[in-house]
Amino acid sequence: MNNTSRIFGSNVFSEVTMKERLPKDTFKKLKRTLDYGEELTPAVAEVVANAMKDWAVEKGATHYTHWFQPMTGKTAEKHDSFIEPTGDGRVIMEFSGKQLIQGEPDASSFPNGGLRATFEARGYTAWDATSPAFVKDGTLYIPTAFCAYSGEALDKKTPLLRSMEALSTQAVRILRLFGDDNTQKVTSTVGPEQEYFIVDKKLYQQRKDLIFTGRTLFGALPPKGQELDDHYFGSIKDRISNFMKELDEELWKLGISSKTKHNEVAPAQHEMAPIFTTTNIAVDHNQLVMDTLIKVANRHDLACLLHEKPFAGVNGSGKHNNWSMGTDKMNLLEPGETPHENAQFLTFLVAVIAAVNRYAPLLRLAAASPGNDHRLGANEAPPAIISIFLGEQLTDIIEQIKNGALTSCTGHTCMDLGVKTLPKFEKDVTDRNRTSPFAFTGNKFEFRMLGSTMSISGPNIVLNTIVAEVLSEIADGLEKAEDFHGELSAIIEKLVKENFKVIFDGDGYDESWIREAEKRGLPNIKTSVEAIEVFSHEKNMDVFIKHGVFSKGEILARQEIMFEEYAKTINIEALTMIQVAKREIMPAVMNYGAELARDISSIASILPSAPLDGQKKQLDRITKAYDAAVVGLEALEEALAKTHEVKDIKEESKAYKFEVCPAMEVLRKPCDELETLVSEEAWPFPTYGDLLFRV
Ligand code: ADP
Ligand code: MG
Repeated sequence: MNNTSRIFGSNVFSEVTMKERLPKDTFKKLKRTLDYGEELTPAVAEVVANAMKDWAVEKGATHYTHWFQPMTGKTAEKHDSFIEPTGDGRVIMEFSGKQLIQGEPDASSFPNGGLRATFEARGYTAWDATSPAFVKDGTLYIPTAFCAYSGEALDKKTPLLRSMEALSTQAVRILRLFGDDNTQKVTSTVGPEQEYFIVDKKLYQQRKDLIFTGRTLFGALPPKGQELDDHYFGSIKDRISNFMKELDEELWKLGISSKTKHNEVAPAQHEMAPIFTTTNIAVDHNQLVMDTLIKVANRHDLACLLHEKPFAGVNGSGKHNNWSMGTDKMNLLEPGETPHENAQFLTFLVAVIAAVNRYAPLLRLAAASPGNDHRLGANEAPPAIISIFLGEQLTDIIEQIKNGALTSCTGHTCMDLGVKTLPKFEKDVTDRNRTSPFAFTGNKFEFRMLGSTMSISGPNIVLNTIVAEVLSEIADGLEKAEDFHGELSAIIEKLVKENFKVIFDGDGYDESWIREAEKRGLPNIKTSVEAIEVFSHEKNMDVFIKHGVFSKGEILARQEIMFEEYAKTINIEALTMIQVAKREIMPAVMNYGAELARDISSIASILPSAPLDGQKKQLDRITKAYDAAVVGLEALEEALAKTHEVKDIKEESKAYKFEVCPAMEVLRKPCDELETLVSEEAWPFPTYGDLLFRV
């Protein structure tokens, strides 16, 4: 075995490890829980807990933690040690089935959107046995869901698991109709690509904006940016390469199949992608990836920036959520070999198209965050309009279906779902539309709107639920049908006709698309605060409630938390800006200007006839920009004070977006100009040029 295969998954209590360490009977019972969600008995849990503890202790663990994902989108952990006093001054290492299955972190300070006030004060964590436990930094991590005692989800995992269940239920109904009597479960799968920036830690530490907000709030563009495209896929610098090597090793130990890594478009920007896996595990893994990126970078005296837009004027970072669904035997979005398989493929494909069109605002909501507002609709990320790219061949087929090829046989093209084979699809890698927010890439859809810091839970909750909804509607129709193929053709044609407008193969970055999309009646929700509003629209609440993914209370709580998160983020940014402007930029510029003035007077006193217009002009420019900065600062302080007065959280978020954010831009402008006017030594912190090129 080579080193990589030896370390891969070495810190994971995987199925293989469980099989080795558990009595046969216990393993079989556990496997039924894992595969079919059967309830775990206390007796089985006891045996599993003990084996897990022994394994973890061998790996050097002294503590365990119920690792969960509160609604902040981050992860949370509270460590307890395994030690139990024996009564005679010694301790033994203990871990019971009860401790494995359920925990009670007090954790009452996490945002709960009012859920806990109305229900139960304490939250509890429950083991998600389908995502394996692992050892990290001397602690056994047990992935868990976090709920209130009344059952309300207080986290991002519980609704995800519910949405996976909903999708499975509806997809299995469809498979039954296609004659598959064996499949018990359909699983959604995800492979998230993660972008990030790496800068030097010493430089990072000199920037309060990076430390407090994750992005630069000031900074003039350096003479060189990304225009030469010399960074994209370029050779990786030694320092970065060493960091990436250790990153891979750490991720492999955790069973995360980090597969590709490369330099991205912007200088100092990189990307990693794992091999796809079951959605809830992919979500857990992506959280670990973000965490590990930061920790490993730190060990290399580097700082990892996960923010969606660390540098204005430079490409931002996103996350591509590659999504599909499948049985243990096949990917349901993989075009088939036989007419029967192709009819089934088209059914699932059309379900996704219809879901995306009908619930486009929910997908937009799933990509809403304060950081992502700097990307969506700007000239690099997909626009805020949701559309689907299918590729030429598939678009052609869908277009024929729209024109009645299945049911009315127009012209010379007559398609029959049950009889004819679809043309063979070429998996086209070269002609991919990179500007599409939602692209079919051969056997999966790639949702490209996500921001780099976001938990990928939200988008997958939405995808699973909305696709489940359309599948349930199709299944309702087909289960009643006497002529299966006739009904299927009619349903597919109807869905294609209704939803064709969401298909767009052109350049999503082009200005004309915005007008075209408007003509087609596609929503263009420009900002996060507007996107968050759609969460509580009746149609959107209904689909979540119908499929048991969220209750109304859970939706309203989450909406409130999203507004709150938005408001708090911008508030921190504004306060940081005020502090940096007042205490760093202004004093530095004042000193520099005073020095310049003194220099001018001393020259004048020695050489009364010396030409000093140039120097004076320079001083004048500095003074004017300084004055504009003071005006900007006062305006920002005023906007912020007014916003603090707003009581309603939705209105407050809007005030942040439409009053505070523009005021921040106004303050930034003269400050960035000042950076270009004073000497390099006079500027109080590292510049964009330093951060982006001195790694
Ligand atoms: P690209 O050419 O964009 O790099 P890849 O085929 O390498 O495309 O896939 C990108 C991501 O999509 C990877 O994380 C990969 O594992 C994932 N992926 C591939 N197949 C599936 C699938 N069936 N479900 C979910 N994700 C998938
Ligand atoms: Mg991609």
